Amino acid sequence: MGTVSDAEKKPAVIFVLGGPGSGKGTQCANIVEHFGYTHLSAGDLLRAEIKSGSENGTMIQNMIKEGKIVPSEVTIKLLQKAMQESGNDKFLIDGFPRNEENRAAFEAVTKIEPAFVLFFNCPEEEMERRILSRNQGREDDNIETIRKRFNVFLESSLPVVEYYDSKGKVRKIDAAKSVEEVFEAVKAIFTPKEEKVAV
Ligand code: UDP
Ligand code: MG
Repeated sequence: MGTVSDAEKKPAVIFVLGGPGSGKGTQCANIVEHFGYTHLSAGDLLRAEIKSGSENGTMIQNMIKEGKIVPSEVTIKLLQKAMQESGNDKFLIDGFPRNEENRAAFEAVTKIEPAFVLFFNCPEEEMERRILSRNQGREDDNIETIRKRFNVFLESSLPVVEYYDSKGKVRKIDAAKSVEEVFEAVKAIFTPKEEKVAV
């Protein structure tokens, strides 16, 4: 632990952010297929933790039902474990960090800064329409919880996007289009451009 060679092997992380229903999970699956990243959805990891019957399960379940943000240490532990177990060194972290505290804690604990933040920008009406029509059996996909999730997104998660934007790290995507059109925009971000030599 803590050797120099560990420090050199820091994985590459991209945070994938956007409101509930903005298409993060769908587009992450496309990115995995084309660019070899491992997709870690913080929400999926938390739902798996509930199912596993962990001692935190009830607390996590209650927070998700209310659209609230689970304490950072719980989520960060799950993310770290998933990163270690993946055997990969490049990750899409989807739906995290959700607030400033998540962000600061992740950077402090892992010493990892994201390469960039992929931000799916989508109007609320479109996100609401998508969530209400996707039938994933999620306890938080009802109109009452959706409204709470939108508020948490605006109040707590958008400031994280703004923080990274101030560091020039946000790649913003218009997410109100079809899955195919959005993926074209995503691909343009992940495909390395040929270096052009300024003369
Ligand atoms: N959640 C959380 N911390 C995270 C990610 C998710 O507390 O880092 C909780 C939160 O209650 C959120 C819910 O899990 O509303 C669902 O998150 P997910 O990312 O799966 O939903 P999405 O925004 O993609 O619809
Ligand atoms: Mg999701």
